[in-house]
Amino acid sequence: LVQIEEITKQFGDFRAVDAVSLDIYENELFCLLGGSGSGKSTLLRMLAGFETPTSGRILIDGVDMSHIPPWERPVNMMFQSYALFPHLTVEDNVAFGLRREGVKGAELKRRVSGILDMVQLGHLARRKPNQLSGGQRQRVALARAVVKQPKLLLLDEPLGALDKKLREETQFELMRLQEELGITFMVVTHDQEEAMTLATRIGVMNQGIIVQTAEPHDVYEYPNSRFVAQFIGNVN
Ligand code: ATP
Ligand code: MG
Repeated sequence: LVQIEEITKQFGDFRAVDAVSLDIYENELFCLLGGSGSGKSTLLRMLAGFETPTSGRILIDGVDMSHIPPWERPVNMMFQSYALFPHLTVEDNVAFGLRREGVKGAELKRRVSGILDMVQLGHLARRKPNQLSGGQRQRVALARAVVKQPKLLLLDEPLGALDKKLREETQFELMRLQEELGITFMVVTHDQEEAMTLATRIGVMNQGIIVQTAEPHDVYEYPNSRFVAQFIGNVN
């Protein structure tokens, strides 16, 4: 689905992302795992089109994204702070992007209520964000991000703001949603346990480089470097 070819992002003479090549397959839940400052968000922002690569390119379904603006990419991004519109109801928050694309009437209703049922928020459709719990708000943001059926959904630390119990619940919610919708997810996290639980594959990132890409089991059992072993916590 996505081919990242030797992509680099340089800020001054500092390389935040350093010649990363990576393929992401259809229907994956790919986790980008790495410590603070390793370049995870920068890589995601280049996929979304918010940041221009210094060199290299990104193909989605074989199409070069270099000159395609963010809003025309088959990609959506959910941010760390999932700002909802406070004055709009849950259903209007979710409908917002579709309305702008000219979807209306019965089709709009059907798509919005379908997605709200899927995240178990159908009964809260008329509430405003400030009448929801943190976990519920997070699910509204998720619903809003997938309702347009992007091919790729980018999630930057989607569970970062939640407490431990809610985090675990929401992990399974994410996995279920990814499967039901068949949208490819790319999730950024610095939490190795979270990556182990969520991912179909993990890319371990350090200092702008993807050090290893493999299935969770293999990253754990066969780390390709001391760094990966240490980061995953399998050192003895
Ligand atoms: P975190 O887990 O803390 O969110 P990250 O892996 O997402 O970290 P990035 O946000 O991608 O890290 O940043 C990678 C590096 O690039 C950091 O050292 C950061 O300071 C630097 N950086 C990011 N954006 C800019 C910018 N606009 N100008 C200069 N340096 C930047
Ligand atoms: Mg980040």
